[in-house]
Amino acid sequence: MNFKLTDEQVKRRGEFFAVCRELEKVKPPNWVGIEAMYRGDECWEFHRHCAKEFGKRGWLALAWPAEYGGMGDMMDKVMFSEARGYHGIRGMDVFGVQMLAPTILHAGNEEVKRRFLPPIASAEVMWCELWSEPDAGSDLASLTSTAIKKGNEYVINGQKIWTTGAHRADWGFGVFKTAPEAKKHHNLSFLLMDMKTPGITVRSIPYMTGNPAYNEVFFDDVHVPAENIVGQENGGWAVVNILAGFERSGIDQVMSMVRGVEELVKFCNETKRGGQPLSKDPIIRSRLAQLAIEVEAARTLAYRIADLQNQGEMALMDASAGKVFFSEIGERLAFFATDMLGPYGQVRHSKWAPLSGLWEDMYQECFVTTISMGTNEIQRNIIAWYGLGLPRMK
Ligand SMILES: Cc1cc2nc3c(=O)[nH]c(=O)nc-3n(C[C@H](O)[C@H](O)[C@H](O)COP(=O)(O)OP(=O)(O)OC[C@H]3O[C@@H](n4cnc5c(N)ncnc54)[C@H](O)[C@@H]3O)c2cc1C
Repeated sequence: MNFKLTDEQVKRRGEFFAVCRELEKVKPPNWVGIEAMYRGDECWEFHRHCAKEFGKRGWLALAWPAEYGGMGDMMDKVMFSEARGYHGIRGMDVFGVQMLAPTILHAGNEEVKRRFLPPIASAEVMWCELWSEPDAGSDLASLTSTAIKKGNEYVINGQKIWTTGAHRADWGFGVFKTAPEAKKHHNLSFLLMDMKTPGITVRSIPYMTGNPAYNEVFFDDVHVPAENIVGQENGGWAVVNILAGFERSGIDQVMSMVRGVEELVKFCNETKRGGQPLSKDPIIRSRLAQLAIEVEAARTLAYRIADLQNQGEMALMDASAGKVFFSEIGERLAFFATDMLGPYGQVRHSKWAPLSGLWEDMYQECFVTTISMGTNEIQRNIIAWYGLGLPRMK
């Protein structure tokens, strides 16, 4: 692993942090939590504004080949994510920039690259991921929504579920059955579609935090041009696997935890309970120290994943390991914070809410990343089989 940065990269890292620091100062008041951008129009507009600011600077295309507007490598992208994570600025469409763009670069034909990469780089188009279905999550290949080719189009029917941000997204990428009679894993295609196409209906799933981030999406005879395919017809499973590796990288999550630990340390130093600063409580000290160790280890693992991807590796085992490790630290951190904050930790919209109510929200949201992007049980299966060479379980 080689973490030596060039002078130019060091300078760019400073710029990433400076711009994100300024954006953090003007974030909307209810900008809180993992899915902050879906907390109403003001948050969405702020998210788009940040994304466009980054797009203008070329930062959404950092690790792309120069011919498509790239200006750096995976380490630049990692540093940019660090800055966004630390300052709590999403400002990057994870679906478009983090997942779809590198997948198109690997598996898309030239026309798909020329058509879809520029609006991702400029943040003109925001995306959502249309994969999971009511009866197909972990076992995604058992999905039943169909895309049947008729002339120069696919006609889609079926339903997706848990589609994060479908109500805000301009376009969606999804996987559908294009050869219903063919063998599992050999019957799927990866398609791109305008979310305003007639026949698409998006319905919000009421969620416990009150943040309307997640949706069901229904397809009734939705016509999608055949040229919107990525990869080969019926070869969608290979594209799914490419995208999954990019989906599970996650340094911004790690950096938001670095910031979380820092703020908890400050809170402990400034807050007294029973006449004593919390920072002198031996249990709090010990748990915070343990979390700091884990967060630092997570940061190193995130760098390793980026380094492997920089060398052109898919880093499947490492990405799965990172996904499990980061999400479970996120849970431990949220559990610790709400324990330590006591009853006030359960308050958000109030002057009594400590640390702007962040941990009330995180407590309810922290499990999300243990499920989305493939559950942690599935990641452990991948590590056991692909990483450790243990027999594959059906
Ligand atoms: C908040 C949230 C946001 C999401 N966002 C999106 C999105 O934007 N787009 C999208 O397409 N999907 C999204 N998802 C869906 C997510 O990818 C699925 O929920 C996930 O893959 C699990 O699938 P499932 O819910 O069908 O659970 P199931 O697959 O039914 O799993 C149920 C339980 O069984 C376990 N299990 C299943 N199979 C195995 C096995 N072989 N070995 C061991 N354990 C197993 C699982 O780990 C889990 O604990 C989101 C989910 C959530 C909760």
